[in-house]
Amino acid sequence: MRIRHDWSRDEIRKTYWLPIPELIFQAQLAHRAFHRPEEVQLCRLLSIKTGGCPEDCAYCSQSAHYDAGVPRETLMNPQDVQRAAQRAKSEGATRFCMGAAWRQVSDGKDFDRVLEMVRGVAALDMEVCCTLGMLTESQARRLKEAGLTAYNHNLDTSPEFYGQIITTRVYEDRLRTIGHVRKAGITVCCGGILGMGESDEDRISLLEQLSRLDPHPESVPINMLVPNEGTPLANAEELDPLVMVRAIATARILMPASRVRLAAGRRGLSQEAVALCFLAGANSIFTGEKLLTTPNPSASADHEMLATLGMRAMQGA
Ligand code: SF4
Repeated sequence: MRIRHDWSRDEIRKTYWLPIPELIFQAQLAHRAFHRPEEVQLCRLLSIKTGGCPEDCAYCSQSAHYDAGVPRETLMNPQDVQRAAQRAKSEGATRFCMGAAWRQVSDGKDFDRVLEMVRGVAALDMEVCCTLGMLTESQARRLKEAGLTAYNHNLDTSPEFYGQIITTRVYEDRLRTIGHVRKAGITVCCGGILGMGESDEDRISLLEQLSRLDPHPESVPINMLVPNEGTPLANAEELDPLVMVRAIATARILMPASRVRLAAGRRGLSQEAVALCFLAGANSIFTGEKLLTTPNPSASADHEMLATLGMRAMQGA
């Protein structure tokens, strides 16, 4: 199966709107060409610096622009982070992601501390990912030298809808940081959030943007909005889980070799809906009670779910 970066909007739209059985069939063909259909990677995401972010992402409880009741916490110490990673590993996670509520990384003691965290997690032989906001080229290089596997920087939504969700940065800023990550030889984790009031055409446009990145992001998280009290999206309309299924299947067809991650919002999905997302080509989930600041299924609940579905956690980093 050939990897393509030239999907047209029309082709993507036609794929997205295929009848669900055909869409899932096509997604399965793509999935099985590159992945084992019974395997799911378990990842853990830890908030290493919480709250007080100067950005105004309308979905985020950590933005200083809104009062979502999330207490601010300073940067964690590297030993505690390494302990959390060790625990995640013992619960089956092979990838450990660290998130800091920053607009951008500033050089200095905080960044040095993050580098120490990266070295500590890398020493556990896990995939190490960070999401720290915008990065310069030299910061990306230093993260790579410290052992960083992946950098998460989501496009969030379509370029057309972006301004309705975030006004403190532009789409170009995101693409620039992704370029720096690539140049440093770090793999890219980049996806979006559904259920923020965007249209199907916005979802198709987001998928087009992702599919045109060359190479494709190795990791594509598809999040379902978890509405947070106090944020502008607190009363967003609930998303039909089949929209997640369509978006995941389309992402799988467009970017067949990537890991497609069923990320935030999984607690709002039934086990049957999650199974459909796996059928659509999702092959990674985040485990552990918290996803940054939002509730998430526990590791034991996820092991039970995988056993029920006859699936298993991916081994090794
Ligand atoms: S940049 Fe990240 S932490 Fe800051 S408001 Fe946006 S999503 Fe939240």
